[in-house]
Amino acid sequence: MKIEVNEKKCTGCKLCQSVCPYDAIEIKDKIAIVNENCIYCGACVSECKFDAIKITSLKDEVKDFSSFKGVCIYLESRDSKLIDVGFELLTKGRELADKLGTKLTAIAIGSNIKGGLGKAFKYGLDKLYLLDSEVFKNNLDDIYSKAIVRVISKTKPEIFLAGATSFGRTVIPKVAAILRTGLTADCTDLEIDTKTGLLEQTKPTFGGNILATITCEKSRPQMATVRPHVMVAKKIKDKIDIEGKIKNIEIDKKEYKSCYNLIDFDKGTEEDINITDYDVIVSGGRGLGAPEHFSMLKELADLLGGTLGASRAAVDAGWISYPHQIGQTGKTVNPKIYIACGISGAIQHLAGMQTSDIIIAINKDPEAPIFKVANYGIVEDLFEVVPKLINRIRSGKTLI
Ligand SMILES: Cc1cc2nc3c(=O)[nH]c(=O)nc-3n(C[C@H](O)[C@H](O)[C@H](O)COP(=O)(O)OP(=O)(O)OC[C@H]3O[C@@H](n4cnc5c(N)ncnc54)[C@H](O)[C@@H]3O)c2cc1C
Repeated sequence: MKIEVNEKKCTGCKLCQSVCPYDAIEIKDKIAIVNENCIYCGACVSECKFDAIKITSLKDEVKDFSSFKGVCIYLESRDSKLIDVGFELLTKGRELADKLGTKLTAIAIGSNIKGGLGKAFKYGLDKLYLLDSEVFKNNLDDIYSKAIVRVISKTKPEIFLAGATSFGRTVIPKVAAILRTGLTADCTDLEIDTKTGLLEQTKPTFGGNILATITCEKSRPQMATVRPHVMVAKKIKDKIDIEGKIKNIEIDKKEYKSCYNLIDFDKGTEEDINITDYDVIVSGGRGLGAPEHFSMLKELADLLGGTLGASRAAVDAGWISYPHQIGQTGKTVNPKIYIACGISGAIQHLAGMQTSDIIIAINKDPEAPIFKVANYGIVEDLFEVVPKLINRIRSGKTLI
């Protein structure tokens, strides 16, 4: 693979330099000079208005990705605290890094991030790149993507993972586009192909009816976003020494000017944003028959210190708001106890709750697919069972 600059055509305009994610172009005597950082991504070639840069490859030549090493995780933070999906990804990242015999690094960005930085090392993290500055306080995706690109282009991980949260789904595609690499969004599983060393990225597709496994052979890093709660966070160390393991990256505020002007930030209601954080979820489906019957489930949820979930059928019917929807097009949850009431267990619903610790299903149809994933199944009318459960808990008896 070769990159050539035609000195007669090059005007030294710096356009190529401004788009190069790898700081691989210097301008000397009004001519672009490409240095050893170049990974032949082609960003400069498409940007050049003078047709002055060409990448030539010998027939069948394979790109050399040997300079890309390690697994890197983006640790998203909210209100200056790392959020759980980061710990889930660190656990998976450690597993992948061990299989590849490489290091696990992470990037944390925010304003005055305190919570959980040390905790991240309990999940097997080797090194953290920290970008802490007030320029990041409004979570504006353009400057976050710029910051992530900065770290990736210097550290060159072969695998980069982030949570498929609303923020992750906004920022990470921009990172992939700038780095000119592929991105598999919304994965539910990640593995290493032992023969090729490639990252196998699995995600549901065609309405969740099939699982597609995708690999990224021709560019680096291999990038994926992963749904929160589909992977389980596992601490591997209790005591940690983080001395020298956090690298603070200096921020030049002038470089991080957003193209957005933030007018207001609507955080939503407490319940809207917290459903995934509850240990108990009592979920209702079409079997409830009417919106007012959710009040019965709410009573049960309140008694158990939990919250309400719902199937898409219940949400589409307008019985409960969308933030409660669980499944492929809703939220993914893994509470300690998930109680499904009048939910059949369609594959798209299961995609959002099947990693729950204990699943209790109440359905009058013994053939309902929800029973295939349930730890406890009650084949009965929910209008009989739920009031009995409420009474049982009120009288101080155990649920199971
Ligand atoms: C692209 C796509 C994305 C989707 N995304 C999602 C998603 O994110 N989340 C989701 O949930 N669905 C999703 N769906 C819809 C999904 O396929 C199902 O249609 C939906 O989950 C069905 O909801 P339900 O189980 O409440 O209703 P139903 O399938 O109608 O089941 C109702 C159940 O209630 C039981 N029942 C009825 N009365 C009683 C009673 N009195 N007591 C006990 N049991 C009773 C019945 O036996 C039945 O099993 C999606 C579909 C598509 C195509």
